[in-house]
Amino acid sequence: MTSRERRIADFIEPFRVEPGSKVNLAKDFDPGFRGTIRSKKRGRKLLNQGVELLAEYQSRLYAEHTHGVLVILQALDAGGKDGTIRHVMTGVNPQGVSVSGFKVPSNEELDHDYLWRYGLRLPARGEIGIFNRSHYEEVLVVRVHPELLERQKLPDDSRKGLWRRRFREINQWERTLSDNGFKIVKLFLNLSNEEQRIRFLRRIDLRDHNWKFSAADIREREYWDDYQRAFSKMLSRTSTEWAPWYVIPADRKWYARIAAGAVIANTLMEIDPRYPKVGKDARAALQKIKLELEAQAAEGAAADPFEEEQEA
Ligand code: ATP
Ligand code: MG
Repeated sequence: MTSRERRIADFIEPFRVEPGSKVNLAKDFDPGFRGTIRSKKRGRKLLNQGVELLAEYQSRLYAEHTHGVLVILQALDAGGKDGTIRHVMTGVNPQGVSVSGFKVPSNEELDHDYLWRYGLRLPARGEIGIFNRSHYEEVLVVRVHPELLERQKLPDDSRKGLWRRRFREINQWERTLSDNGFKIVKLFLNLSNEEQRIRFLRRIDLRDHNWKFSAADIREREYWDDYQRAFSKMLSRTSTEWAPWYVIPADRKWYARIAAGAVIANTLMEIDPRYPKVGKDARAALQKIKLELEAQAAEGAAADPFEEEQEA
């Protein structure tokens, strides 16, 4: 491990949810945490370094074409998911990245099992896929609002122990992905109640931000405590060795972006993708083609089949 890799690994360690631990979100994680990075200015420098690192690793991931990366972002409204995606992924080649947002499921989606629509959006090998909200909504919003479960058309005998089963199924699903070359990065942007209030007010006060605010957001805010409980359970039950959760302190947007970028960079460092090496025979073949291409230049004005015939 290089010293830079060690620094990144140490930096993200406090955000990692130890698999098997019981999380109490309100007590265990501080949304205002900023560790040793005290200023936004220093933060910006680190973010830029992180962005460069990501671009380099993504290029290798794409070329190697063996692993894929799935980044999952969960947060309450105004948690900063969109901004995090924008800032962290600037600089990477758009060809290798896809972003999928998940809203209230459509009728067609409800006619399938609950994991179906997420499976359709998984990244391929060589790609980074970002989920803006994810299958975790199925144990969050659906748990906080039981009427959403009613719409899922489940048979009666599958209701018993439903949440425990979903946690198990999600863990197994992620295990399958991980065993087959797809690394999963799970980021929960942890916002405080007070900071959400301030961000909502800002969305109302700034005209250009009005579109981001909906009356539904203020209704969801009333379920704050229920969500904190649902998040705590989700973190306790689905942080695994193969796909651990990271709780990102999100009250300062700049800090959240550095932290999210560092977790993604760390994952890519663990994969350590390499540009494919070209073998001896293939290199010899390339040299031969090179000679042919050079010879074509020497022949210069070879007959051009498209040249107009000269009038006699
Ligand atoms: P923004 O941050 O810009 O508001 P958003 O991700 O909140 O973006 P919205 O269109 O506001 O997008 O909200 C999507 C809504 O869909 C959320 O309230 C979310 O809880 C809900 N949703 C997502 N997945 C499911 C699901 N499986 N079942 C029910 N509701 C879901
Ligand atoms: Mg919203």
